[in-house]
Amino acid sequence: MSKVLVIGAGGVGSVAVHKMAMNPDIFSDIHLASRTVSKCVAIARSVKERTGVTIATYAIDADDVAATTKLIESIGPKLVVNLALPYQDLAIMDACLAAGANYLDTANYEPRDQAKFEYHWQWAYQDKFKAAGLMALLGSGFDPGVTSVFAMWLKKHKLKTIRLLDILDCNGGDHGQAFATNFNPEINIREVTAPARHWENGQFVETPAMGVKQQFDFEGVGPKNMYMMYHEELESLAKFLPELERARFWMTFGDAYIQHLTVLQNVGMTRIDPVTYNGVEIIPLQFLKAVLPEPASLGPTTKGKTNIGDIATGEALDGSGEKTFYIKNICDHEEAYAETGNQAVSYTTGVPAMIGAAMLLTGKWSGEGVFNMEQLDPDPFMDMLNTQGLPWTVEELDGPLSF
Ligand code: NDP
Repeated sequence: MSKVLVIGAGGVGSVAVHKMAMNPDIFSDIHLASRTVSKCVAIARSVKERTGVTIATYAIDADDVAATTKLIESIGPKLVVNLALPYQDLAIMDACLAAGANYLDTANYEPRDQAKFEYHWQWAYQDKFKAAGLMALLGSGFDPGVTSVFAMWLKKHKLKTIRLLDILDCNGGDHGQAFATNFNPEINIREVTAPARHWENGQFVETPAMGVKQQFDFEGVGPKNMYMMYHEELESLAKFLPELERARFWMTFGDAYIQHLTVLQNVGMTRIDPVTYNGVEIIPLQFLKAVLPEPASLGPTTKGKTNIGDIATGEALDGSGEKTFYIKNICDHEEAYAETGNQAVSYTTGVPAMIGAAMLLTGKWSGEGVFNMEQLDPDPFMDMLNTQGLPWTVEELDGPLSF
């Protein structure tokens, strides 16, 4: 029936595969491949213990298009779910085209030597996927992913137009380490050290990284400092919500995180250009990743909650004037760990990846070509968030953020 191949056995891949196994009516045959096969085997063991479902595992270097094509052909999945790193996106898209499989990911393609966070490389695959009669769904994680679905749900049910949009991503979790990142450290640090960009009056406005700071009182977490930064869904939201006057993305960071990051940046450890050490070329940020805790290892010790949502202001659908709505999910690290063996940052990404895959496999979302989350009906996805561990709430606020 619905055969799926997941590539990438990190925290996000682990959650997605566990949740797929918990929905056997949709995912009848699950395959997991990654660079280090022992990580796939460990996930398969945990899935078997928790759900009784058997998962097939494989070693693959997804940078190798020919080998990945061969693997996809030999398994014959309807869908390949790419939960490796953004560097592999184009190679896996090429392999899907060659082998005739649909494609889904949670992060846009990134060249290794530049932190860009732009969609144009993947949007350029539009004609190829269309010609092949296949669908590629981009950015089906939480942010990007659910944050765009939230905005489109508000646009469908509450607001005729969205004039102002703020996306607030708070991780109130404490992992007990002096410094660690909650998902892949290399991608996380590239994102945080890049200049901030927000959408205003038809263009992106750039400001220095971590230059704009505000405090916000997050339900379930309490007051936290959040920093304006660039995040890739701003690009697709600006494209598919042309009426947006302003769209901003905020993420919380504790003082200790900022302090460590500042020192690492000042000493050059976050550089992504190669340096020669003892005759060998190394990329400082990749070396740093090797000495930092693996995000997956933080699961057992992380306590607290994540709170991610959208605050949107615009003309109300019912003609009652301008209204502001806040739509969000709160996720508990310990509950996420108890269910899948992974903390909430992996959980809040892996569950939407599974739901996006379910949308494609059940035909609730279909099409030929490359799609962003904004282009598809938010309702069935929102329904599954409620039943699959990421329930959401919506409330009316007095007005937009005062800053
Ligand atoms: P991890 O680093 O924990 O896992 C990545 C996995 O991909 C590892 O198992 C790694 O293998 C594997 N991998 C890396 N390179 C290759 C390759 N060439 N071929 C095959 N497998 C490879 O990352 P996360 O699980 O935290 O994140 C996964 C993805 O999710 C990333 O793209 C990240 O950007 C995205 N993400 C999206 C979010 C969202 O809300 N949209 C939020 C958080 C993450 P190995 O074990 O050998 O290193």
